Amino acid sequence: MGVRTSILSRIPSVDEILKTDAARVAVARFGRPRVVAAIRRGTDAARQASDTGDAPVPGPDAIAAAALAWLEADARPNARPVFNLTGTVLHTNLGRAVLAEAAVEAATVAMREAIALEFDLVQGKRGERDALVRGLLCDLTGAEDATVVNNNAAAVLLTLNTLAKGRDAIVSRGELIEIGGAFRMPEIMARAGARLVEVGTTNRTHEKDYAAAIGPKTGLILKVHTSNYRIEGFTRSVPAKAIAALARASHVPLLNDLGSGTLVDLARHGLAHEQTVREAVAEGADLVTFSGDKLLGGPQAGFIVGRRDLIARLNRNPMKRALRIDKIRLAAIEATLRLYRDPDRLAERLPTLRMMARPCADIAAAAERLLPKIAAAVGPRFEAGIVACDSQIGSGALPTETIASAGIALRVAGAKSSGRALAALVTAFRELERPVIGRVENDAFMLDLRCLEDEAGFLRNLSPLRIGERG
Ligand SMILES: *Cc1c(COP(=O)(O)O)cnc(C)c1O
Repeated sequence: MGVRTSILSRIPSVDEILKTDAARVAVARFGRPRVVAAIRRGTDAARQASDTGDAPVPGPDAIAAAALAWLEADARPNARPVFNLTGTVLHTNLGRAVLAEAAVEAATVAMREAIALEFDLVQGKRGERDALVRGLLCDLTGAEDATVVNNNAAAVLLTLNTLAKGRDAIVSRGELIEIGGAFRMPEIMARAGARLVEVGTTNRTHEKDYAAAIGPKTGLILKVHTSNYRIEGFTRSVPAKAIAALARASHVPLLNDLGSGTLVDLARHGLAHEQTVREAVAEGADLVTFSGDKLLGGPQAGFIVGRRDLIARLNRNPMKRALRIDKIRLAAIEATLRLYRDPDRLAERLPTLRMMARPCADIAAAAERLLPKIAAAVGPRFEAGIVACDSQIGSGALPTETIASAGIALRVAGAKSSGRALAALVTAFRELERPVIGRVENDAFMLDLRCLEDEAGFLRNLSPLRIGERG
């Protein structure tokens, strides 16, 4: 018998491996076919290793344990929770707003049960899904009517398509924004079938520019919140109120796309004032659009509030059906909006606002508590220190505002080859059971603690780190 045959005969058979304790555990959890497949991966790997060298042949327990570990790693959800220590409260890549408990509960009920989604419980007949949130939206914004679609990009698309298809949509050159991804105002206009009519210049637009552009082909005037940038210096833009007066005189509707759109005065919570949706409605915009998952702190959604006749036209557009949202999100939106009826307790209950308004001293205290434990977890190869830092709101809300915050900065101890060691540290945090996402700044891995609410969970999660002990 050749050496190779003898090794092959020593690799345990699948049946033999299936009899081990680890394999039994694996079969109970993942089902026999997947365990058999995972074991085959193990035996194939053992065979290959024995072909190429003198690797010791693993026993049945080792192969079963490896198969179980692989199945466990593979079973971790792709949509895993992470710790957002980036300092950006509404991080688009991390799912933006974290929902309020009330919204989570409402969404769970809607998932589990049949709900009166399009059913009028008073009349006992077919109803409309928008009715679930229309009253709340009107109350909170002072608008006549309201509708909800998939996101704010969809809200703008639907409005342009309904009111300006084959017609002119007038917008200032200073507001032709791109909001990351593929949302560029001129392209959205083209897709909506509207003809873009640019007025003014990049830095200055005057009332007379709008007035000169309005004509028989005008379908809509659009005002866009310059969410993610600010033009400074020799600038002029026309306030929505003045455009609204012009629009009304010419019988042309004005859409004010607020982007983030807040329902409360953020100055009340120690943040910079941002025009509220109610203020935008009161200024005379015929329609106002805003996001559900930015400052509002709800699930992804786009709201359109304003004139009843125009909302009715939007609802008659077949595109509305393609952009509608499901019962789970509607339930979460309703619960989120209800929180706004009690403004005194809003900051306590709505995580987005709670995190944005969290006092710096409170965050610094958390940094004091966590510093020794984080330092111990990363080991002596890294220096850990408390630093003042700036959080931002994110998602294009209040772009130039930062909020004073505190965090832990981790640096490679000593000067040499810090780049690679720091990168390894960042990776190690990302590979934790619940990945920790921070930001790299000035040769340090920065953990902004503003959005860390579960300190105990965070510390438990750190225990496998032990970077200092890795070679
Ligand atoms: C963010 C934003 C949008 C897009 O909103 P989504 O809800 O992300 O689709 C549109 N307009 C403005 C001005 C924005 O800031």
